[in-house]
Amino acid sequence: MDVVDDELLTGLNPPQREAVLYRGPALLIVAGAGSGKTRVLTHRIASLLRGGEAYPSQILAITFTNKAAGEMRERVEQLVGERGRGMWISTFHSACVRILRREAEQFGFTKAFTIYDSGDSRALIKRLVKEHEADALGLTPAGVQGRISKLKNELADAESFARQANMSDPAERLFVEIFGDYQRALQRANAFDFDDLIAQTVYLFRAFPQVADVYRRRFRHVLVDEYQDTNHAQYALIHELTRPVTGAAAEPYSVGGMMIFEPEEAPELEGASLTVVGDSDQSIYAFRGADIRNISEFERDFPGAKVVLLEQNYRSTQNILSAANAVIGNNFDRKDKKLWTDVGAGDPIVGFTGYSQHDEAQFVADEIETLHRRGVEYGQMAVFYRTNSQSRALEEIFIRSAVPYKIMGGTKFYERAEIKDALAYLVAVANPADEMAVRRILNKPRRGIGDVTETAIARYAADQQITFRDALANASALGVGPKIQAAIVQLDAVLAEASALMLPSSGELPPPTTVAEGLQLLLNKSGYLDALRASRDPQDEARVENLDELVAVTREFARNNPDGTIIDFLTEVALVADADDLDDASGSVSLMTMHTAKGLEYDTVFITGVEEDLIPHRISAGEPGGPQEERRLFYVGVTRARARLYLTLAMTRAQFGEVSVAMPSRFLQEIPATLIDWRQSPGDVNSRGGSQSRALNARPGRSGAGGGFGGSGRYGDALVPKSTSIDKFANRIPAKVRDNGDMELAPGDRIRHDDFGEGRVDAVTGEGAKRVAHVRFDTAGAKKLLIKIAPIEKL
Ligand code: ATP
Ligand code: MG
Repeated sequence: MDVVDDELLTGLNPPQREAVLYRGPALLIVAGAGSGKTRVLTHRIASLLRGGEAYPSQILAITFTNKAAGEMRERVEQLVGERGRGMWISTFHSACVRILRREAEQFGFTKAFTIYDSGDSRALIKRLVKEHEADALGLTPAGVQGRISKLKNELADAESFARQANMSDPAERLFVEIFGDYQRALQRANAFDFDDLIAQTVYLFRAFPQVADVYRRRFRHVLVDEYQDTNHAQYALIHELTRPVTGAAAEPYSVGGMMIFEPEEAPELEGASLTVVGDSDQSIYAFRGADIRNISEFERDFPGAKVVLLEQNYRSTQNILSAANAVIGNNFDRKDKKLWTDVGAGDPIVGFTGYSQHDEAQFVADEIETLHRRGVEYGQMAVFYRTNSQSRALEEIFIRSAVPYKIMGGTKFYERAEIKDALAYLVAVANPADEMAVRRILNKPRRGIGDVTETAIARYAADQQITFRDALANASALGVGPKIQAAIVQLDAVLAEASALMLPSSGELPPPTTVAEGLQLLLNKSGYLDALRASRDPQDEARVENLDELVAVTREFARNNPDGTIIDFLTEVALVADADDLDDASGSVSLMTMHTAKGLEYDTVFITGVEEDLIPHRISAGEPGGPQEERRLFYVGVTRARARLYLTLAMTRAQFGEVSVAMPSRFLQEIPATLIDWRQSPGDVNSRGGSQSRALNARPGRSGAGGGFGGSGRYGDALVPKSTSIDKFANRIPAKVRDNGDMELAPGDRIRHDDFGEGRVDAVTGEGAKRVAHVRFDTAGAKKLLIKIAPIEKL
């Protein structure tokens, strides 16, 4: 072994090495979380480059997020130095955008196409649903959007779907019509939606084999991380890319307007070498059409494939792994595999139950501060939740406790109205065919252009067979009043000026003006900023700041991409995925959903809201395979932790617009009790006395959560399952938990408790959902009861 290999291979175990050194057509690495799959991919790429077996340009590596792609690139470059430049390491979406930008002209798009995010396509579908009066037949924009997305992930278009749909059903017919209209509208707007990016690339390759061959010749090594979450379209794309090149003489074809002549007799070439890594236990995107079968059928699809199994986990302590193994062992449709580690048991998992989500958040914030004082960096801690809405309570407390945090899921910023407006201005310049963008800015800021004028413009455009954008240049022909006419002329002039400055000239010279300058020009000359500044609404002040932030983002973009065009910038913004963040998050605690956490690792992880209806989420209950997918999601969450894992929950949670009593998640019961150290504080709010296991039992038909939680002290009303016999947690959801929120109680009232019998109220303290009754029972002694949930009635 030479020095070069040695450096790459030390720090790998034997099966990992085997995977790195394998040379052949197809390699599948299946292994549990934290077993070094991603590391193997990285080292494999480095090994190919180091040995001179591949040029960087011959490598295509697909990762789950742009962030993961950036990290992989960095790690490869650390291993091989400058040589790493020129590799394609990106997400499926980014790779397809790059291909489509080069090839879009082959099939009626231009390279300036817009990428519609789900909000954009929802807006378009909403308009179509309205135009077709489809709500009368029960079609909703959300429903139509979801179905279209699903079909596209299965590579079905409106025509192919129509062939097998029940077209005698009017709702079905209408859906097909809307699907078709939607696709035509996208084409007219020179736009692709997210699912199109993949599907259209597959269509492109199938329709133009000679184009596909260019990429097949180029990418000799295709590597895919998180393969368990690929859907059918992505699977097909990989298939297309790794087919053999037949060597048939290619017709001349054009790329970006330039004619390419392949040699008459292009040599035959076998398919690219394909490496995929995945873990079927971490498949969490079935709802988006991901198909675990892609893993199980790999050997059938790629005969002769080599399979490598990894079992040693290098990420987590044994306690964390044992919990993960125990939970996932309850899924019945899996191959059993046991992860092990040699780093030792480590700290116990910490469990905590707050009275409310605020107590829970306070506990998390306090623990973070304690750990931070002990030297754990904020950037090494993460807080997970099942749904985005859970972040609000955490944020409130974190702000109050001065815990620096960052919400991963960078798209939030880009969902703000003023940011969408600013981006629409940029799109109107970059891709004037995008009618939605032009319509969006028509009356922003207010110019007196209302619906009537908008319709007039659209009609004029249709009559003249020109685009909506071009119709603006003919304001005088629209038949509108002089004031409105002047407003349109002014908007047209601003867009024209920005276009002249920001778009590359036809000779493909770089544009004279940066995106930052262009954006500022648009915001100033359109009057957008002035209107905000003139406003007395304090929110508008915040909007100005957000726009400043956007300008800062464009500057940063220019620094990182000196040749970046407006189209490159819009692409980057459109492709920001959940786990991606344009800012550095290293000095803050990361907050994110468990979906977003995939592939990441942190020293300390808090999983919050470990409750029935959240994880497993209540929407999963009715879905086939739903609870199993939720269990995999929880498994993903647990296995992100290196040294410390916290599982927290709240007894009551304000959610879906009401305060409800939460039940501990069934997944807690699946973790051996000895692994969890439940933090408890003294007190007996609502203790029913007797055995804890009984108190923790949720008995259908009555308040189960009423007992078994005691607490006071630091978290005033913290409620902690006291029992170590947590394994006796009822694995059942109570039919209906009692809610006495409205019960009026005053000192002197008599009540009856299901367990303690009758008693007299001495005092009532606290407020709202936290009201506590101090009751002297006739036989059971004095107790404090949480009125809202205690199994009591007034006599
Ligand atoms: P996931 O399923 O969560 O994506 P993974 O299988 O991709 O996990 P990696 O992220 O590659 O796992 O590795 C987990 C951690 O273990 C990383 O910090 C990695 O650097 C480390 N690691 C992997 N293999 C080894 C090894 N042989 N020696 C030491 N550390 C290792
Ligand atoms: Mg990984």
